[in-house]
Amino acid sequence: MDISKIFKNNEEWVQKKLNVQPDYFNNLSKGQTPDILYIGCSDSRVTAEELMGVAPGEVFVLRNIANMVPNTDLGVMSVINYAVMHLKVNHIVVCGHYYCGGVQAAMKSADLGILNPWLRNIRDVYRTHRDELNAITDEEARYKRLVELNVEEQCINVIKTAEVQKARTERNLTVHGWVFDIHSGKLIDLEIDFIKALENIMEIYRLD
Ligand SMILES: [Zn+2]
Repeated sequence: MDISKIFKNNEEWVQKKLNVQPDYFNNLSKGQTPDILYIGCSDSRVTAEELMGVAPGEVFVLRNIANMVPNTDLGVMSVINYAVMHLKVNHIVVCGHYYCGGVQAAMKSADLGILNPWLRNIRDVYRTHRDELNAITDEEARYKRLVELNVEEQCINVIKTAEVQKARTERNLTVHGWVFDIHSGKLIDLEIDFIKALENIMEIYRLD
């Protein structure tokens, strides 16, 4: 990849936008009112906006290794706070993807240095769902299921935050768990039943 090509690409993109709408960037500079917060993986193949077909200004995006929502991560917590309290998004999406290197690394016992504490969050998901996962004999199927369960657990982490709990009650903010299937290009809604997922734990995490 020739890095200088990026600037050439950018010039062409600016021109293309201006050809269609001369005041495009003028309008963009006025501010943003996205309705969705998307939390996805940093994987270069999972390009948030492109796979959702959305334009600049429509989705507030956070990407990190394996789309995690650790409650002690200041970056993640600030993004959620800003999106919910200031941008007033009505939807929060956690989007995982099959063949996620982060999830795969967490399934192995290798020492990966600074990545260990990050991946430990995924190992905790494995521990929580150990019986279901260990019952899956096919390794690829088990790996894919862990991707799905990790999305579900990160959605629950989103719901554990005070601002999301408040917005769910006050304006019906909705949390969604999705998986992107790199093999087919398809986006899959896991249709997580949060009422069921939360029924046993909300007595512990409720903050009102
Ligand atoms: Zn990934």
